[in-house]
Amino acid sequence: MTDAAIPVTQSAVERITEQYLQSLGCTIEKQDNQWVIASPDSTHSELLTDGLTLVCGDEDDVGGRDNFEPLHPESAFFQRILSQASERCPTGKIAISSAGNDIRIPEWLRQSDVEVSDADFAPYYDRTAVVILYQVTIETVSEYQSEFLRAIALDARSEEFLPPLEQTFLELTSLDGATVTSDQTEIDPTDARELLDTANERLIERIDETIDDIHHEASRAADAEVEEYRQMQQQRIQELQEKRSSLSSKVDELSERIDSSEEAERVEALKKRKELKSELQDVDAELKDIRRLRDQGFRERQSEIRERHALDVRTKPVTLTEVEYERGEVEFELTMGEHRRTVTVGYGSGVGVTEAIDCASCNEKFSDHTHLGSITRGLKCEDCASLEESRHG
Ligand SMILES: [Zn+2]
Repeated sequence: MTDAAIPVTQSAVERITEQYLQSLGCTIEKQDNQWVIASPDSTHSELLTDGLTLVCGDEDDVGGRDNFEPLHPESAFFQRILSQASERCPTGKIAISSAGNDIRIPEWLRQSDVEVSDADFAPYYDRTAVVILYQVTIETVSEYQSEFLRAIALDARSEEFLPPLEQTFLELTSLDGATVTSDQTEIDPTDARELLDTANERLIERIDETIDDIHHEASRAADAEVEEYRQMQQQRIQELQEKRSSLSSKVDELSERIDSSEEAERVEALKKRKELKSELQDVDAELKDIRRLRDQGFRERQSEIRERHALDVRTKPVTLTEVEYERGEVEFELTMGEHRRTVTVGYGSGVGVTEAIDCASCNEKFSDHTHLGSITRGLKCEDCASLEESRHG
């Protein structure tokens, strides 16, 4: 299964920035790690100053020069790009043609003892997909947790999800001289909105597990903090109890002295006893308070702690890229010993095999877990192939 998540890397930062600036109509002249940005007069963006030069990577290279801005995942400029991009969701366009692209052999075939001696793709028609790149941040109020980018690809017309295309997209666009252009996408805004909604649902499904993991971690942290607080209060109760018993024996001592002493000493002892009794009252009040809170399970404090560890999940579409791809059929020439067989399946450039094939024996679909085992009597999975082998010797 493709897991098209990438940490916010320098190459992703550069790609998003480039796509966004191009969508504003800017031109970028690249000289080593410096990008000189020229913006059309019509561009009103707080981002852009006259003669802006972005310096990719190292902050030290900027050295306080006017109009030079560092560009890297934590840079202020990139943070502004992300927040503006998520409002406008800039669009771009790339084409993935079959020409010059190796045919993507599915996992069930690659992991098989059956050999692919030839593969031939015949494109029949062009299709359009969109790949939406999301920024996902998961954090708690108390501490920063996780930030990553994730791509979701789907066919623009059928809304069929195309996970392999996500990987292809990330590979293609992270290469130098990526072919993302600022061409206007042909998808109309209403359709784009719908595609975004569908992609958003899918994104949430996909990151659910990650959210769950972080959620467990956060509640464990909250549990630990609650427990620590409980122990601290228990300790305070103990301290107060000790203080109480010491005070009360002092009060008893003084009472004895008062009964048996001279007038002058008696007045002094009475005064002292009064002080101690008031101190004793304070201790009793505090004890009563803590015990009451303890008996209620430190409710308020608990909810304050749990609130601090609650998760805040935010997803923002950062870019939407229209991808032209070709759909057709691929013909695989399969060889196993002296046996040969040709298989024809639906295929898309950058997408891979788009059609499921079943085992001729058990009808199980070939997948990442069910590999092709034999081609002697139709296509059979590994389990059926070894069963057949033991039967026929
Ligand atoms: Zn089978």
